[in-house]
Amino acid sequence: MSQFSSGSLEAQGIHLAFGANKVLRGIDLTVPAGTTASVIGPSGSGKSTLLRVMNRLIEPDAGDILLDGKSVLRDNPDELRRRIGMVFQQFNLFPHKSVGENVAFALRKLRGLSKDQAREEALAQLDLVGLKHKADVRPATLSGGQQQRVAIARALAMKPEVMFFDEATSALDPELVKGILALMTDLAKGGMTMVVVTHEMGFSRNVSDTVTFMDGGVAVESGPPGQVFDAPQTERLKRFLSDVL
Ligand code: ADP
Ligand code: MG
Repeated sequence: MSQFSSGSLEAQGIHLAFGANKVLRGIDLTVPAGTTASVIGPSGSGKSTLLRVMNRLIEPDAGDILLDGKSVLRDNPDELRRRIGMVFQQFNLFPHKSVGENVAFALRKLRGLSKDQAREEALAQLDLVGLKHKADVRPATLSGGQQQRVAIARALAMKPEVMFFDEATSALDPELVKGILALMTDLAKGGMTMVVVTHEMGFSRNVSDTVTFMDGGVAVESGPPGQVFDAPQTERLKRFLSDVL
């Protein structure tokens, strides 16, 4: 039994241009409920933009996005962002709020909890990432790894159906990376639906159910890790893997 009420996510034929720059050129991505899809590829290939389109921070020029089999393009984008949690490279915590308030804020704003309920739930969520004792300090007093745990707790507090991670460990000191990857692995094993943009090839190979290699706004290859890492079909993926592994 999954500990999360995860949903499936599907992107179909996503196109997006910034002016003349065609950043996404017909991307398909299918993430069954409770599975983890990792997205790898060189810098500038459109990985972050794909995540931003899938939670409608940017509207696609063409294509559809389905959550649990239903198109969400006509829904209120705020509602979609409540259903999809997002964790960024730079944590994006509010610097002037305490750690506890960082987690409680959206619970009050988006889930409509009272101040006390939000505080209680924030503390419970912080406890799950081992940081309940830091609830009353400012984020800047924490290590990068701890700040990223707070960001993950904040996202999970919304009870999302899907979690997005955009290079969540890239800004961390090397000794802190492992802890965050372990937390992400626990979420994946707990049945969360996840889309993970990452340079951590170990995580991609060992934790994800599918790997998608993006280059130039195209999903060049996609499949189970064993296929993508051990039997790459294209020169582009072979070259990428020989550069990063
Ligand atoms: P990745 O995450 O794979 O490194 P991005 O999705 O960040 O790639 O960027 C893909 C391309 O889109 C790049 O050429 C980048 O310059 C361009 N791009 C990203 N965001 C914007 C934006 N807001 N306005 C214009 N161009 C953008
Ligand atoms: Mg990026």
